[in-house]
Amino acid sequence: MIHVEGLEKRFGAHRVLQGVSLHVDKGEVVCLIGPSGSGKSTVLRCINALESYEGGEIRAFGERVDRNAPNIHRLRSRMGMVFQRFNLFPHRTVLENVMEGPVYVLRQSAAQAREEAMALLAKVGLAEKAQAWPAQLSGGQQQRVAIARALAMKPEAMLFDEPTSALDPELVGDVLGVMRALADEGMTMIVVTHEMGFAREVADRVCFLHSGSIVEEGPSAQVLGAPRHARTQDFLRRVL
Ligand code: ATP
Ligand code: MG
Repeated sequence: MIHVEGLEKRFGAHRVLQGVSLHVDKGEVVCLIGPSGSGKSTVLRCINALESYEGGEIRAFGERVDRNAPNIHRLRSRMGMVFQRFNLFPHRTVLENVMEGPVYVLRQSAAQAREEAMALLAKVGLAEKAQAWPAQLSGGQQQRVAIARALAMKPEAMLFDEPTSALDPELVGDVLGVMRALADEGMTMIVVTHEMGFAREVADRVCFLHSGSIVEEGPSAQVLGAPRHARTQDFLRRVL
C-alpha cells in the first residue's frame, strides 16, 4: 500500500536519508524506531509529501508521491498524519476541529459531519468534550482529538510521528490505547515511536533507522527481543 524504495533526502550537503526502503501492506502496523536525528520524521514527511526528495521513489495506493504532481492534495488526503505536538485550531471547539476537514475539504453537510465527528469523539473517549476549547484539554486529550480529526478525513493509512513523546507519562496510555484500537480495526499505520512496549505488542514489523539508513528490520519480537545488529542492540540497551 505504501512503498518506499531507495529514498534519498538531503538538506544542503547533509545526506539525511541514504537509500531507505520500506514497504507497508494494507492493514500492517510498522513502527519506525531509532536515535534522535536518524531521519524518522523525514521519512514520514517524505511519504506525506511534506518534503521533497532527491532520489528513490515513494508510491502510495499505487500512485507516485510527488510534491509537484497535480494529484498530490488528493493523494495526501488519503493519509492521516498525527504529529508530536498537537496542532488543533485554538479558536475552534473540539467538535469544530474534527468537523473542519469533512465540511471544507470533503464537502460534507454540516449535519453529517457533526454526526460523524461525534462518533469519532466517542471512539477516542471524548464525546463529553465536544464543546470544549483545545486549551481546556490535557495534552493527551488534545492528541486524541488530533487523531479523531485525522480519522474524520477517512484516511486509508495513518502516519504517527511520536504522538506521545510530548505528553506527561500518565497521559500516554490513553493515546496508545486509541492507536491500539485503530490497529485492531485493521488500519494501515506507520508509527514513529519511542514506546517500545507499544511497538512490541502492536507492530507487525519494526524498522530501526540509524543515520539515514534502515539497519535492521523484522518482526517486532525479533528486532526488539533479539536484535541482530550491534547498533540496534546498543540503541535498545539505552531506551529499554
Ligand atoms: P527525533 O527523534 O529527534 O525526532 P528524527 O529521527 O525524527 O529525530 P529528523 O527530524 O528526520 O530526525 O532529522 C534527520 C536529520 O535531518 C537531522 O540531522 C536534522 O537535523 C536534519 N533536518 C531535519 N529537518 C531539517 C530541515 N528542515 N533543514 C535542515 N536539516 C534538517
Ligand atoms: Mg522526529
